[in-house]
Formats: sequence, C-alpha cells, structure tokens
Amino acid sequence: MSDLSYIKGIGPSTISKLNKLNISSIEDLINYYPYRFEKLKKTNINDEHAIISVTIISTPTVSFFGRSKNAIRFKALYEDENKYIDVVIFNRAFMKSNLIPSKAVTLVGKFDQEKGKFIASDIKLFDIGNRVVITPIYHLVKGLTNNNIRKYITESINTVSLVDYIPYELTNKYSFIGKKEALNIITNPSDIKSLNLALERFKYEELFLFMLKINELINKNSINNIGHVRNIDRDKINEFISSLPFELTEDQNKVLEEIFNDLESSKRMNRLVQGDVGSGKTIVAFLSMYALSLDKYQSALMAPTEILAHQHYLNMIKLFEGYNLNIKEILGSTPKKEKELIKEELASGKIDIIIGTHALLQDDISFNNLGLIITDEQHRFGVNQRSNLRNKGEMVDVLYLSATPIPRTYALTIYGDMDISIIKSMPNGRKPVKTINISKSEEDLKRMLVTIKRELDNDHQVYIVSPLIESEDDEEDIKTIKNNFSSAFKKQKIGILHGKMTPKEKDDIMNKFKEKEIDILISTTVIEVGVDVPNATMIIIYDAYKFGLATLHQLRGRVGRNSLDSYCILVSDRDTERLKIMEETTDGFKLAEEDFKLRGSGDLFGTKQSGDMNFKIANLTRDYDILLKAKEDSNNILKNINNYPELKKILDDSINKD
Ligand code: ADP
Ligand code: MG
Repeated sequence: MSDLSYIKGIGPSTISKLNKLNISSIEDLINYYPYRFEKLKKTNINDEHAIISVTIISTPTVSFFGRSKNAIRFKALYEDENKYIDVVIFNRAFMKSNLIPSKAVTLVGKFDQEKGKFIASDIKLFDIGNRVVITPIYHLVKGLTNNNIRKYITESINTVSLVDYIPYELTNKYSFIGKKEALNIITNPSDIKSLNLALERFKYEELFLFMLKINELINKNSINNIGHVRNIDRDKINEFISSLPFELTEDQNKVLEEIFNDLESSKRMNRLVQGDVGSGKTIVAFLSMYALSLDKYQSALMAPTEILAHQHYLNMIKLFEGYNLNIKEILGSTPKKEKELIKEELASGKIDIIIGTHALLQDDISFNNLGLIITDEQHRFGVNQRSNLRNKGEMVDVLYLSATPIPRTYALTIYGDMDISIIKSMPNGRKPVKTINISKSEEDLKRMLVTIKRELDNDHQVYIVSPLIESEDDEEDIKTIKNNFSSAFKKQKIGILHGKMTPKEKDDIMNKFKEKEIDILISTTVIEVGVDVPNATMIIIYDAYKFGLATLHQLRGRVGRNSLDSYCILVSDRDTERLKIMEETTDGFKLAEEDFKLRGSGDLFGTKQSGDMNFKIANLTRDYDILLKAKEDSNNILKNINNYPELKKILDDSINKD
C-alpha cells in the first residue's frame, strides 16, 4: 500500500477528504472508478437538453438574491444560426472571471425561444465544435472536484506499478489493451471506441477475479464436503412450531425440509435461502438452530448490523421462553466483562445459541461444539466471508439468508458454490403495500401530511427515510427535516436514526420505536436491512430517485408486516418513469429483474457496506457474456494456479486464509 502523500498536490486535508470516499492509498485511488461517463455532443438549440457552442459578447453581470442564490447573465452570439441570445446561469457566481467576452464556450441547458433566452445548467469553458467530449464522472465529497480526482488518478498511474491480474495468455486471446493504458483512457477518454475497449478490459478483470474465487470455493467444497450427520428431532420441533402464533407457509416448510435433509446427510450444508422481504426467513433460521441444540450442538447467528442482531436476539428469547435454551448476544457494545464471560461459556458449551454481528468471527471466540453458522442478509457480505465461515468449526454446517432476489440464471453462476432454497410465498393475510409516487410540490406534500396524520391517529407508526441524512451536511439536513415534521405533528414523538450514531444510540432509538415511545422515525437507509416493527404502517421515502428498485423494495418491506393496510410514499421530482414500477408490483424478483435491466447489479447488493459482489465496473446483466467467459477461463487457470503467483496470493488472502 502506498501513501497518498506521494502524489503531487495531495496534502493532509485532501487525504482526509479522500478517506471519506474510502480511498486511503494510491492503490485505492487507482481502483476508484467513475460511476458514469458524460458524453457531450452538439445538439439542435431547441432540443430539450440542448448543447450548443457560442461566443460570449458582453461582460457578464452577477446579481445576488438572498444569502446563497445568484445569477450570471451575458449576451452571446450563436453562430450556427447567426443570432444573439441572452444567457443566464444560476448559482455559479464563481465562474464570472472565466466568462470573458470573445471567448467561445459550450452551453448545456434549455433555450426559451419566446424570450430568446438560454437557461444554462452548465457552461463548459471550451468550444465543443464537432467533437464528442467524454468526461468520467466520479462520486465526490465536499471540497473535491471531479477534476481533482482525475488529476490525482492520472498522477497515481505514473507513480506506482500496476498489477495486471489478467494472465498473459488471456490478454492475448482477447487482445486486451494493457492495464496502464486502459486506466489512462478511462481517466482521460478521448473517443468512445477506445473507452469501450478500456472498459471491456476492466470488466473482464473484475469478473475474472470474482469467478476465480467462486471456482476456488466450488473446488474446496467438493473436496471438503464431509459433514456431521445430525439427528433432527422432528417431534420436538413440530411441537414448537404448533406453539407459534401463526402457521408456517408452504415455502417455509419446504425450505425447512431442505435444510433438515442437509443436516441429516453426511454432506456438509452450504445453503443459501433466498426469500423476499417479509417472507419469514428468520423463523426458519431459529428453527434450524433449535434443531441443532436438540442434538447438542451450538449455533451462531450473525447479522450485518447491531440493530438487527439485537432484534433477532430479543425475538428469539421471547419465542423460546420456557424452553431450556441458553441464548446470548455479543455486540460491539457488550461490556468487556460480560464478553469474557460469554466467551468462557461458549468454550465450555454452556451457551447453545449465540447471536451477534460478524465481529463474532473476528474475535478470538472458540466454541465447544459449533454445529451451525447462519448469516442473515448475506448479500451485504461477500465471497471472502464464505470460506471464513466454514473454517470456524469442525465440519460446521452453514446457512446463508438473503433478501436479494436474484434471477435464477445469475444466481446459479454467482452463487455457484452454494445450494439454493427459495421462499416465494408470503405469509397469509399479508396485503400488498400500497405504493404511490408523489412530487415535491407543496400541494403533494400537504396531502402527504394529511395521510401521515391519518395513520398516526390510528395509533400506527411511520418511517421517514431520507438519503440526505447521509450527506456531508447531515446535521443541517436532519434539523430541517425534523423541524418540518415537528411543526406539523406537535403531539407526536419523533426520533432520528443515522449511520453516524453509536450502536448504543441507534439501539435506544430503535427500541423506543418498537416500544412505541416514538411515533415517527426519521432515518437513513440504516433501517433498510431486516428491521421488523409490525405496527409501522407507512414509509415515506424522500428523493426516491436516488435509490435502486431493490433498495426501495427493501425499504418498503419495513411496512406491511401484519394484516393492516400499509402504505409507501415515494417522493421524487425525477426519474418518475422508473419509480412507477414500484406502484405496479410488490414482487421482489420482478423488481430485481427490472433493476438488473436498468441499472445493473450494483444496487442490488446494497449501496455502501456490501460485499465483494458490488461490482465496481461490471454489470451482471449487461456483461453476462463476459461473466460466462470469465467463469470458464478462471476455471482453467485455477488448474495451474501455482504458475500465477499474483492470483494465488489473492486466493490465499481472501479464500484460503488460515
Ligand atoms: P424476512 O424474511 O424479511 O427476514 P421476517 O423473518 O422478519 O422476514 O418476518 C417478517 C414478519 O412476518 C415477522 O414479524 C414474522 O414474525 C412474521 N412471520 C413469519 N412467518 C410467518 C407466517 N408463516 N405467518 C405469519 N407471519 C409470519
Ligand atoms: Mg430478515
């Protein structure tokens, strides 16, 4: 790992900004890909999104309104039609000194024919002429510009030596361009043809490394697939099931049977349970752990967040009250002394079931006779984790739960190392969540407040989700949102939940919401995964366009968790066409497929914290043919892996640790 400060122009303050983008070394910088490419090409002046070149002919004037709003105005000559136009651009006062009379610039925006006025959304300080200008666009944080990032990456490319992971013979086979050249092209693209070649190369590399790991896992599993034959006490399990307040659905029963068959066989279980949000995966996990405990084995259940782990813990001790089960939780916030005690009891076998986050694995925890590991919301993690889990106990069985519905063809490839079970049916009595899209107009928002009030008057609870809260100025944003709601709902209690709170703070808020001490919960997407508060019947999602359909579906899954009518309101002024699909279907598999078509796989696996399956540059649907090639090629390479020390090292570091 090379220090960022080697790069010209990068000092301590830039480093801290880059850190916010998860860039902490030159290698990270080099692997920081643009999320899209802007392609600029001259259009007709009357196009909806017009791009034209003009020559500035008057000195721009700037007017300020209020504290932060301003407008620059100038006259320009539009040579293509030989006419003069007025140009206005808002909130770019800082550009004034660059807008000099006689300079040719490119305007992006919309032309108002009647007024002869061009309202620019952007001004490029060059004449586009008849070129196509391609600019890579990166995710940014305050204080870093797109050009800064490009400059730093360009510097980096020449500072460190790049490791090309594509074996020489494959580079030859596909005539790929070299990594350094490809990276230069992506950072400073000159034409679409070479850009596509460069992208192709990176997509292949990414998918090749991914499939190399999957193939390694498949190989390992087939060599090392001997497990314990567990004894499943169906009588006791059925007795417990009949004590539940509900009947299991057909699919829950089917999946349980698949799991029990695995457990009873001499093959080690390595099974993924895919089930839509709210389909009831948790109880399947609980029953599997109960089954193991009846056979005197310990089980561990891991969740991606402390909120979720704690929720599972509370649910489980409630459900198994009066059963002779020793269930404990271990979280980051668990006091040290208590942790020590839990560790002792896990080692001695006193604890039957342990619930926690993935810290469970990192900690120096040893078990007496661990039989089963379950990870919830598996899509948040990745390939590297899978082998790690299996190494934890002696011939331990592993179960993965995932709410990400992936079309079967893809699932078979990217989850090729696991058996797959699917829960499709929803528990009886569930009504689909009524979904509506509204705009940000005052009228719509007012009507929304009326609907919220109706739910609150019925003693139900409401989630408000805003992507804003995770932005740079989150504190300001939270205050604004909270103030808006506090003035509208004076009697109700409002709570706030966001990613920067400590686990304890989050927990307190979540518990208050569960206990109905909070009526309205304003939150970021931290509530996205798994949270279960059946009395919440409405979820409002602000700026819904910022989320993929899969994420929206997960968020929507927070409501509609009992037989009450429930509602999801998507607030957005953009992308309304795409968001309409949410009104039409509540089928997660269908939405996932749409997402695959529209945005690729990236969003399916969550936005930030997700595992290695959140491809940086490849897109599972669009690049499926590359994936299949990568699958076959990586399998061949794997047969002689010792000839490829760099690839071997990747596998050793990720899959074959310890
Ligand atoms: P997910 O699959 O999203 O993890 P959960 O396991 O959290 O879903 O289940 C959602 C809700 O449905 C929980 O409140 C759970 O108690 C309830 N539930 C689970 N199975 C059934 C069922 N067969 N009938 C009715 N309610 C059920
Ligand atoms: Mg769940």
